[in-house]
Amino acid sequence: MSGKEVSSFIREEIRKEVGTLAFSPCLAVVLVGDNPASISYVESKKKACEELGFSHRDIELDKDTSQERLLEIIDELDNDDEVDGILVQLPLPRHIDTDMVIRAISPEKDVDGFTPVNMGNLVLGQECFIPCTPKGILALLDYYRISTDGKKVVVVGRSNIVGKPISNLLMQRDRNATVTVCNTHTKDLRAECLQADILIAACGQSEAIGADMVKDGAVVVDVGINRIDDPTRERGWRIVGDCNYAELKDKVHAITPVPGGVGPMTITMLMENTLIAARKRRRG
Ligand code: NDP
Repeated sequence: MSGKEVSSFIREEIRKEVGTLAFSPCLAVVLVGDNPASISYVESKKKACEELGFSHRDIELDKDTSQERLLEIIDELDNDDEVDGILVQLPLPRHIDTDMVIRAISPEKDVDGFTPVNMGNLVLGQECFIPCTPKGILALLDYYRISTDGKKVVVVGRSNIVGKPISNLLMQRDRNATVTVCNTHTKDLRAECLQADILIAACGQSEAIGADMVKDGAVVVDVGINRIDDPTRERGWRIVGDCNYAELKDKVHAITPVPGGVGPMTITMLMENTLIAARKRRRG
């Protein structure tokens, strides 16, 4: 399942739609500090904005920026009529209370879907901004016509940004999966994973899920993005997923590669959420 392919298909639809609008949807991207992975994610998000005809507002703050100042900036963006969506790149430096910062974003501009209002509505099955990675996983499954109805889904990981929302989405009435959510206290991870018709790996452990943990013909969605040393590469590292792709690819019905799987979908869904936010806000 190629996230690159699905992503470029959806991006084309978004680009076409933006071309018909009288305004450019505007995404504010807030980066605090100089974490290299965060810088690279933020760059990809800005690039996607430019490709799709969105405008973007870039707020780059020193790593020592106070929480108070960050909250002030979010308040300004929240009250700025030109801004449709606000994205605060995580993780934030340790001296900042991430939950408080997320709560400061109004739900209408929370295109990451992380505020309690959007998360609450997601669990209730009501209209909300769905967090981008889970939304991207659903879009991938839909594109490849993989039904989750009546399927046994095992999610490895229970984070607020991936594990919790995807497991909630899949158990709802429109998806009808039977979902098991694993964490580091799970007694026998291998036995749980072997039950899965669809396995969603989001544990942040390099290639931890191998052929002995996946049943023949399963569908595997690998969310992991892990950097490992690789002296054969000029830059000295490469990215791998949470699954051992080489071991799994001939055993499963379908699998997402890393890179080129869930990653591109996440950014595309951010663009889709920003477009939705812009349409809703500017309608009135
Ligand atoms: P977190 O570190 O927040 O959460 C990891 C989860 O996995 C935790 O719930 C943890 O359990 C669980 N876990 C870790 N090790 C094991 C294990 N051996 N057995 C069972 N459960 C385990 O990670 P995220 O959810 O933020 O991200 C997960 C991965 O996905 C990372 O590699 C991240 O880089 C990637 N990612 C990729 C995105 C994309 O766009 N493709 C977007 C977001 C993340 P416990 O709660 O007990 O600690």
